[in-house]
Parts: sequence; C-alpha cells; structure tokens
Amino acid sequence: MFKRYMNFQKNNGISPYIWTILCILPFYFIFQSSSPIKIFVGVILTVLFLIFFRIALSVKGWPVYLWTFILIGISITSTSLFSYVYFAFFLAYFIGNIKERVTFLTLYFIHLISTSASINFSIVQQDELFLKQLPFVVITWIGVILLPFNIRNKKEMGQLEEKLEDANKRISELIKLEERQRIARDLHDTLGQKLSLIGLKSDLARKLITKDPDQARSELKDVQQTARTALSEVRKMVSSMRGIRLKDELVQVKKMLKAAQITFDNEPDFTLKDVSLLIENILSMCLKEAVTNIVKHSGATTCSVSISQSWKETVLTIKDNGVFKGKDESLAKGHGLLGMKERLEFINGNLELVTNEGTTLIIRVPNDVKPSDKERE
Ligand code: ATP
Ligand code: MG
Repeated sequence: MFKRYMNFQKNNGISPYIWTILCILPFYFIFQSSSPIKIFVGVILTVLFLIFFRIALSVKGWPVYLWTFILIGISITSTSLFSYVYFAFFLAYFIGNIKERVTFLTLYFIHLISTSASINFSIVQQDELFLKQLPFVVITWIGVILLPFNIRNKKEMGQLEEKLEDANKRISELIKLEERQRIARDLHDTLGQKLSLIGLKSDLARKLITKDPDQARSELKDVQQTARTALSEVRKMVSSMRGIRLKDELVQVKKMLKAAQITFDNEPDFTLKDVSLLIENILSMCLKEAVTNIVKHSGATTCSVSISQSWKETVLTIKDNGVFKGKDESLAKGHGLLGMKERLEFINGNLELVTNEGTTLIIRVPNDVKPSDKERE
C-alpha cells in the first residue's frame, strides 16, 4: 500500500494535491457571498465546471471547442461573481493537452483574452475580495500564458523520447537480423560448399573403389582434407561470434610483449563483474591496440596493465615507460587511437592519454548494472 502511494507520488509529484485544493477552494469563495441565491448558483457552477471538465477531457474533434467555450463561460462568471479566478488553471491545463495545433492556438488565445478581460473587469470594479488576492491572480494570469505551452512541449518531448526508444529497438532488431543473415551466409559459403564437395568426392570414391583403388584412395584423402578445413573454418566462425574475452586477449598480449622483449609488469586479477560481452569485446580490442602501439612505437622496456572496478565504472589502465612519439593531431588521423576513442564513445566510455614518463592510456567504461538497480530487484 505504502509502495503504491510512493509510486503515485513519484509519478505525479505534488500536482494532485494542487488540483484537489483548486477543486475545494471555490467553495470558500462562494461562501463569502452574502445572498443564499448566489451561494446556490456558485455551488451549481462549480459542480458543473468539474463535471464538464471531466467530459471535455474525453472528447475529440469539434466538441472540444464547444466544451472549452462552456468552461470559459463558467470560469469568467465565477471570476466576476465570486472573485474566483483559479478555474483558469484547469482550462490552461486542458488547452495544453490539445493535440491539434490550430485548435490549441485558437483556444489558447480565446482563453487568454477572456481571462485577461475578466481580471481587468474585476479590478475596475474595485472588488475587495479580488484585490486582496491580487498577487495570486497575477500568478494565475502568468500560468494561463505559460502553462499550455509548457504542457504541450513536455508532451511533445515525451512523444519524441518514445519514438527514439522505438527507433533504438528497431535498430537493435535490424542488427540481430543482419547478424543472422551474416551467419547464414558464412554457413552457406563455408560448411555448405565443403559438405557438398565431401558428398561428391565420397560418391566418386565409392564408385572407383573396385575399378581404380588408387584414385579412390586419393579422393578419400581429399575428403578427409576438406572435412578438416571445414572444421577449422567452423571453429574460427564460432570464436569470432563469441567475441574475445579480456582474459584470452591478455594471453595474446603477453605473448606479443615477450616476443618484443618488453617486461610485463604485474599480473592483474581479471575478474570482471557486471560487464556485458559487448563492453568486454571493446575493452579487449583497446587492450590489443594499446599493446600493439607499445610494441610498435614506444621503445619501452616495461609495460603494465591494470583493471579496477567501482560500482559505476570499469577502468583499464595500460602504461609503458617509453616515449610517446605522436603529436596531438595524430589522434585525428583515423588510426588506432582514434578508432579506440570512437568505439569507447559508442558505449559511453572515454579514453584518456597521459604522455609524461612514457605513455599511459586510461580507459573508462560505465557498468551495465548499477547497484541501485540491483537493490531494487
Ligand atoms: P595504426 O594503429 O592505424 O596501425 P598507428 O599505430 O600509427 O597506426 P595510432 O595507434 O592512432 O596510430 O597511434 C598514433 C600515434 O601515436 C602513433 O603513430 C605513435 O607515434 C603514437 N603512439 C601511440 N601509442 C604510443 C606509445 N605507446 N608510445 C609511443 N608512441 C605512441
Ligand atoms: Mg596503432
């Protein structure tokens, strides 16, 4: 129950309370009147306003004009009779929610003009109750000017966000489809062709086995060879689909550094938590490129790689004790460092290059699952 209340509170803020006050407040103004007839008319008008407002929220097309005019009429009457101007808030909210642009603008200006006129009329009449609440009247008038546009903009933004989310979903579906097609193509080009070749050759060998055993033996050798090639191609395909894990990349990197006679400084603990395969693949690519650069350009004698994880991000640091040879512009030439930067930006990460006492690359990527999300589950 409490949770439901909190959710309601979070989604709507304090606005339901303000609306409730605005619904009750007219009665206060009405009961300020001396004559019972006026009180009776006031109560009827308020109840009618609230009922008509509810109806107006559910209509579409030309009845929108009709209901808005009725509501404006009641609002003006209650301003002049009871100095109650705040129905204008309801109307501003209602007009802000009108989708059709022309209807919105027409009703916006009609409402603004009629509210301004009724406020002026009450001021000219020197209505005491009205003049007492003048600051609130001014706030209401500003609300009538700004609120409809504010609501409309918010709605449009919400719609745009929804569209963006849809587009993102569509893109990820298309990526999946593209990936499936690529796998199908690869399977057809590698396994499909090799298997039909195996079929043909083994058929030929079966026919030749009595007539020409030597030829049959050579065909069978071909079959064996083709099967082996197919197997290795499938393995390659599978490993490229799996992506490269950081641990595996580290093994390769160590081999590379050993061959270049660069000492690998420390053995880090590479257990990654809350990191998706995509992010791990990108980190692996960055590690590979960074170490290749060290071997190619740095002239370093040692290299160290470390990884640290906090609740919000994973930081991969690759440091060498050589000399940075590039200029700042070299980042913009579309080589390895730039590619790294672009890939990292794709996953909201960033790349920092520190070039005093050798080169240090600091790679930061945000974690997928934040502890707060976990706690909520
Ligand atoms: P590519 O990566 O496309 O094969 P590249 O290695 O020259 O080409 P980047 O990886 O973008 O390109 O590196 C840009 C430049 O920065 C290099 O040419 C090199 O001069 C310098 N550089 C990069 N890393 C190091 C490093 N660890 N030590 C010294 N210089 C470096
Ligand atoms: Mg490079």
